[in-house]
Amino acid sequence: MLIGASALSVLAILSIVGYLLVREYRNTEEDAARSALNIVQLISRDIQNTLSIYDSSLSNLIDLLQSQALSSLAPQIQQSLLFDKATEAPSNAGFFVLDAEGKLIASSKPAGPLLNNASQQLWFKTHIKEQKDGLFISTPMLVSESPNEWNLILSRRITAPDGKFGGVAVAQMKISYFQGLFRGLDLGPTGNISLISTDGILLIRYPETDKFYTGQDVGQAPIFLRFINERYGSFTAMSKVFQLERLYNFAQVGDLPLVVVVALSTEHIFSNWRHTASLIGSATLLLCLGLLWLTWLLTRELRLRQHAEHELAALASTDPLTGLANRRMLDKTLDLEWRRAQRAGTPLSLIMIDIDHFKAFNDSYGHQAGDEALRQVAQAIKVNVRRPADLAARYGGEEFAVVLVDTDAAGTRLLAEKIRLAVEQMEPAHQANTLTVSLGACTRYAKPGDDQQELLNTADKALYQAKKRGRNRVMDINETGLNAPKPTNPL
Ligand code: GH3
Ligand code: MG
Ligand code: MG
Repeated sequence: MLIGASALSVLAILSIVGYLLVREYRNTEEDAARSALNIVQLISRDIQNTLSIYDSSLSNLIDLLQSQALSSLAPQIQQSLLFDKATEAPSNAGFFVLDAEGKLIASSKPAGPLLNNASQQLWFKTHIKEQKDGLFISTPMLVSESPNEWNLILSRRITAPDGKFGGVAVAQMKISYFQGLFRGLDLGPTGNISLISTDGILLIRYPETDKFYTGQDVGQAPIFLRFINERYGSFTAMSKVFQLERLYNFAQVGDLPLVVVVALSTEHIFSNWRHTASLIGSATLLLCLGLLWLTWLLTRELRLRQHAEHELAALASTDPLTGLANRRMLDKTLDLEWRRAQRAGTPLSLIMIDIDHFKAFNDSYGHQAGDEALRQVAQAIKVNVRRPADLAARYGGEEFAVVLVDTDAAGTRLLAEKIRLAVEQMEPAHQANTLTVSLGACTRYAKPGDDQQELLNTADKALYQAKKRGRNRVMDINETGLNAPKPTNPL
């Protein structure tokens, strides 16, 4: 029970600690995802705001161009009316208006190489093809004069009053704007933030790395496909490029064709948790081992104690000379069996045995021979008392007693006779005379209120009769008197 209880306790401790560690792991993951998604949301809101400034500037530009009143103003006033407000858009590299053939008709500053051959560019063709009025965001483009200066073309279709294609209003935006937005964000050792178009073209990545670059097509990567399918959320996946497990947090920027991604290294996220888990885990393991060890020690001690108690109990109830039960044990057994027999209505028998002329034997052969003879007689009694509930005891001196449970008078007499014969047939030691014993037996069906002392007295009386009638014989006194035939059960 002790081992079972301690094994259960160990199991309970391990389960509780395991559960807490798993819960802590999930909390850590959720906290990291929550704060990363907050960054994603803030950045996406900022991008949305900036692009809506561009969008409204372009719409405003188109509205002004199409108003009749503009042509009546002086060219200088026209220029400042068209572009003064628009050029306040952050990180812009100029606003331009192209006609239906792609020719520049107005601009906030001289047009750069990006607008050369505008009619052949994808964004221009898209506006001719699709009659939609929304903002179009191009893929990142390099301005040839400054090799590292990536730009985006943000454009809106101009629709003539007759519904035909009337040209394109264009804004050129420096991609460095996003770098400014991301700079200073602490995303851990291998964390990074990316802005990707929904076509899979990487616009910008911070911090920069050789493995990813502006304009790179990541549209076929399985991780990117999850961003597009799920639009918003977090998941953990293996980065093939870095060979690291990472927590990806992403959101599409409003209705714009852009996705912001914050990727964090899980090793960094869980480093604190791992430290705590190894500390708590090893402390718990030590505690459990200690508990099991203490249980083992306690069990061993208890076993030794139990063994010692058994030995003591055996010593306390055994006669050292003969190995039979002692007087104490006899009294206890007699008391117990008397009450049991009273309850069950079964017979209880007692045989008192006394060695004949033992004083003379001692006198002739000495006390040591006398002791040896006592041991022999005890052995002769012992081998004849076989039932587990029966008891053979040394009553005192050279007297013995046998308690027979649930044995009637006839059975008792038979057994007493067997003992008598066994002693008579014993090989005499030291060329001594043959020893004999006299036996007095008594069988009682105890009724409530009867005294067990009466059983002892009667058996003793029968023994006295056996001595009186010449020794080496069995006499019994039962319900109906001396040597009476077997009584029937009165109950
Ligand atoms: P009886 O036939 O009438 O019983 O004669 P008896 O000589 O046996 O008489 P009694 O029962 O009075 O004898 C008791 C003697 O038993 C006294 C003593 O010499 C001997 N005796 C009692 N206890 C021991 C013992 O532990 N060891 C030895 N060697 N002798 C004992
Ligand atoms: Mg005696
Ligand atoms: Mg005697």
